[in-house]
Order: sequence, then structure tokens, then C-alpha cells
Amino acid sequence: MTGRPLAFVLCQAVGAALGGWLSGERGALVGALAGSLAWWLLDLVRGMRLLRWLRDGAEGDPPRTGGLWTEIGDRLRRALRQRERTAQESGERLQAFLSAIQASPNGVILLDAEGRIEWCNQTAAAQLGIDPERDLLQHVGNLLRDPAFADYHAAGAYGRDVVITARDSSPGRPVRLSLQLHPYGQGRKLLLARDVTAIEQADAMRRDFVANVSHEVRTPLTVLAGFIETLQQLPLGEADRARYLGLMAQQAHRMQSLVNDLLTLSRLEGSPPPDTAEWTAVEALMAQCEQDTRSLSAVVGKDSHELAFDPGAGMEVAGSAPELLSAMSNLASNAVRYTPVGGRIDVRWQWLPDGRAEFSVRDTGPGIPPEHLPRLTERFYRVDRSRSRETGGTGLGLAIVKHVAQRHGAELRIDSRPGAGSTFAIVLPAARVRRVTPAPGGASAPRATATP
Ligand code: ADP
Repeated sequence: MTGRPLAFVLCQAVGAALGGWLSGERGALVGALAGSLAWWLLDLVRGMRLLRWLRDGAEGDPPRTGGLWTEIGDRLRRALRQRERTAQESGERLQAFLSAIQASPNGVILLDAEGRIEWCNQTAAAQLGIDPERDLLQHVGNLLRDPAFADYHAAGAYGRDVVITARDSSPGRPVRLSLQLHPYGQGRKLLLARDVTAIEQADAMRRDFVANVSHEVRTPLTVLAGFIETLQQLPLGEADRARYLGLMAQQAHRMQSLVNDLLTLSRLEGSPPPDTAEWTAVEALMAQCEQDTRSLSAVVGKDSHELAFDPGAGMEVAGSAPELLSAMSNLASNAVRYTPVGGRIDVRWQWLPDGRAEFSVRDTGPGIPPEHLPRLTERFYRVDRSRSRETGGTGLGLAIVKHVAQRHGAELRIDSRPGAGSTFAIVLPAARVRRVTPAPGGASAPRATATP
């Protein structure tokens, strides 16, 4: 810092000395003035060079003019670099933050104090049909025209959400969105959009399920209560009494079946899928299934159906044997219950060309109209309600079969046409079936699975 006055004085002194040497006292004065002017011009040039460096964007090092200007240049450069670093870090942080919001499964829209869109993520754009660039600074009310949202926005009570039907919702694929505004900053708002279709559907399913179960239980209960009252109030003869008690037992049995099926379903839903460690011979499952089916058919009448069972020799399946048996028996019992007397029912296990195995039940029953097929595995869905009831159906059989199939990685196939009978089949993946060759002693020994 002391260099600067020194240089100035030196310039003056040199000027004065030169002037004095050339033209005496007066010359010394002019020389001192000229020295000062020269120093000032030099200083101005240095300052101008620094200014030009600044104007050109302060790239690279500042001009090394020496003295105070160099120090000013260095300090300016350091301050600028520091600010650039801070700006870059802030930019990176903002970018990371925006990327995180972009990755959110929920739609996020930032609104300014006037309710105009400042920014929105891709999810919100897709959910609400917003173009993140074109629709910037558009009022949200112009883009979200649902009256429920307009009322909600205008009311200013943002403590709760509002649920609207999405733009691309259709009867076959309904989409429902929950929208909630969250005020922040000075009058700004954050609009969160959440797809609540699955939650609403689960809620509706739960309500339907409770209503269905209550209805299914209430019917036999009402009948039972009626019989009990009759028995209490009327002096009945032995024959009538026995008949009433028989009907009561039927209703109690119906409730028992319903509760058993409900428990089976809840067990299937609440336990992990069976692994592939436990192998069961298909022959054993088929023997049990045949016994169950024949007893059921015998209840309908002697020789009521022509039943054919292919025992599925030499095959083993992996998974839960009770679950697989329950699925097989359910399909076979449906065939017996829905096929009129005199019909034929074929039950078999067979290999498929790709190494998978199929359990199928084919009947010559009435068949099912195509519009019912997609809904058959829904709980309590029945095509023929009265036939189902008459034969002790709970409406849960195919729901159980579907669950068992899913838990074993299998596929449930239904092929049916009115008047042409029905075929219900469970196709097990190759990893869950294997061939067994009879060991010399008669026992079965497993061998590697191969395409048959
Ligand atoms: P349910 O206890 O009523 O038999 P399921 O879930 O087992 O309930 O079957 C659902 C509906 O599918 C039945 O009510 C019936 O209308 C139809 N169904 C099932 N199997 C057959 C079949 N083999 N032939 C004709 N209809 C069938």
C-alpha cells in the first residue's frame, strides 16, 4: 500500500528533477506536474485493463499490472470464484432436490401466490395432463377443471384432500386421484396428487365382502330361527319334527361350509407361498380326490354321473398337498354339482409338451356364457345362484382354487361354452412337477424332470 504514494512522489520527483535540469525552478514545477500526470495516466491504464478483464467475464487470471490494481484484481477474482462455487453448489442441491421430487410416485405441483404453475414433476404431468413446459405459469384452475377441485381451491380449507376422477379414467379402467393443497412461503402452495384407485377399490371390495358374508350367513340363520320358533310353538308329530330337524341340519351345514371356506381363504392369504421342498405323488392326491368326488356323486344318486379318473402315474408335484387337494376336489365337486344326472366327468393329470403339467376336470354340463367367465373366481360370484345354493355351494370354491394356483405359480384356465360343457384346468410350472420311476422294490424314486 505504501508503494503507491511512493511511486507517485517518485514520478513527481523525477519530473521535477528533469524539469529543473532543463529550465530551472519553473521547469521543476512543470516537470513535477508532468510527473504527476504521467503517474495518473499510467494508473488509469492499469485500472482500465482490470475493468476490461471484469467486463469480459473475469475469465482466467486478472491482468498483472502490479501494485494496488493487482491486489484488487486478485481479491475480485477470489470473491467471484467463491460466488461461482456457491452458486454451483446451490444449483446442484436444487437439481438433486428436483430429481428426488421427480422420482416421487406422487404428483407434485408448485403454485405461485396467484395459483399459477411454477413447476411440476412428470407424475403430476401424466396424472393431470399437464405439459411441464407449455403450461408453465398457467392458472391451475384452467388446467384442472373438475368442479370438486375448483370448489376446494376456492374454499381455502386445505386441511383435507379432495378426490376427483382422473382425465384418462374409463369405466373399464377407473382412475381416482386425491388432491391436497399445502400452503408454504408467501402465499405459495404445493399441490400433491396421489393415485388412490387401488385404495378405493380395496375399500369397496372390503365393504362388498362384509355385506356378502353377512348376507350369506343371514339367510340360513333366518331359516334356522324360523324352524326353532316353529318347534317351540307348535306341537308337531314325530315325522314333522324329524323333517324340520333335517332341514335345520342342512342350514347349519351350509353355515359350516361357508365358515370353513372363509377360513381356508384367510389361511391362503395370510401364509407365505409353499416352497418346492415338499413333493407329493399325484396318484395319492388323485385317489383322495376320486374318493371325495365319488361320495359327492353318490349323494346325488347311484350312478348319477359317469366318472373317469386318470391316476397320473409316475408324477410328483411340489407344494402344499392339502392346498392342491382342496383345489382339485373343488373343481371336481363343481363338475358333479353342475352337471346334470347322466353327464360325464373326466378328471386327469397330464404332461404338457413344454414340461409343465396340467390337472383338468372336463364335464358335459350346461357350460358357462362367456360374459361370466372373467368374474367366476370373484368371491361369491355365481352364474346360477339357485343351483349353487341347492347343491350346498358357498360361492367361494373357485376363489380358493385361484388362490391355490397363484401360490404355486400355476395358471387357472377355464374353457366353457353354453351347451358344450366346461373344462377347468390348473397348469403347474415345470419347476413344480417331476417324473418318478418305480424303484426295483416297488417304491418310487425321483428322477430329474424332463420334457415328456
Ligand atoms: P359355488 O360354491 O357357487 O359353486 P364356485 O366359486 O365354485 O362357487 O363357482 C362359481 C360359479 O361358477 C358357480 O356358482 C357356477 O355358477 C359356476 N360354475 C363353476 N363350476 C362350474 C361348472 N363345472 N359348470 C358350470 N358352472 C360352473
